Amino acid sequence: MIEFIGPKDAWVESTSGERLLFMLLRHHREYAFLVKTLSGSGLRLGGRFSDMSNFFVGASVLHLMQRMVKLAKDVIAEQDGRLDQVRVLRARMFDVLITPLEYGGDMGALVQEVLASAEQSTKELKPGLRDRVAKHGPPDCYSCGRTFGVTPPGETDPLARTADHVWPRALGGDSRFDNLLPACKDCNNAKEHIAAWQMAWLQPAVFTESHGNGGLKGLRRENRMALHMRAAMAYANQNGSTLRDAYLAIGPRIDPARLDDDQGYDFFNLRVHDEARTNVFWTPA
Ligand SMILES: [Zn+2]
Repeated sequence: MIEFIGPKDAWVESTSGERLLFMLLRHHREYAFLVKTLSGSGLRLGGRFSDMSNFFVGASVLHLMQRMVKLAKDVIAEQDGRLDQVRVLRARMFDVLITPLEYGGDMGALVQEVLASAEQSTKELKPGLRDRVAKHGPPDCYSCGRTFGVTPPGETDPLARTADHVWPRALGGDSRFDNLLPACKDCNNAKEHIAAWQMAWLQPAVFTESHGNGGLKGLRRENRMALHMRAAMAYANQNGSTLRDAYLAIGPRIDPARLDDDQGYDFFNLRVHDEARTNVFWTPA
């Protein structure tokens, strides 16, 4: 089971964006309503129904977050003082995105967290931080596991070592050690602003039986990365860790395989982590 919808379980948040996500999941009545509606909808998805509900709720809340952060960025660009930024953002959020009636938590705290998340998108890494991430992180890319290349001067190497924001800056990922891991340029670029597996395009991840396991070799990198994220998020929740520590515990993604050999080849039945080693299981209901 993946505990992403509903109240935050044990996941230790280390960025503004994660705090904002959990505030919305906990207090926005629309999501509680969505969970309830989906649970009663009778969609025929077999054992993977909760995964599908999780996907719908996660995609919706992340969509709202993106709109909030964008709005906050505009407000920060227009208003100088913090008090004015809070006042204007609050008014605009009420107008177009969310009202106190729909939100059962502290609106003041929510507005502050949206502003904090928007500010992260412009924060550069402090001097020395990139080196610290390289020195204390795994020797290979945390996502694909490939060894970093030595970049010849003036050239761009797809295997050049970068510091990847585990929770992306664009969604309130802080430029701090707890949120950074060494990744190759290839993986960093492919990930873009994807914060969670619910943001990946899952439609092409349905395979026909005839592909067999060989067909999984053709699974898009974006989907592999989404499956990897999904495992990291589940691990963080199950073990009470940050996302960074979850990725370190799980290790780089491996070749895709089916969770349940008797079931089909859709996204929810695939894994790119070693279940036995990582202790991340999805149990068909
Ligand atoms: Zn990589």
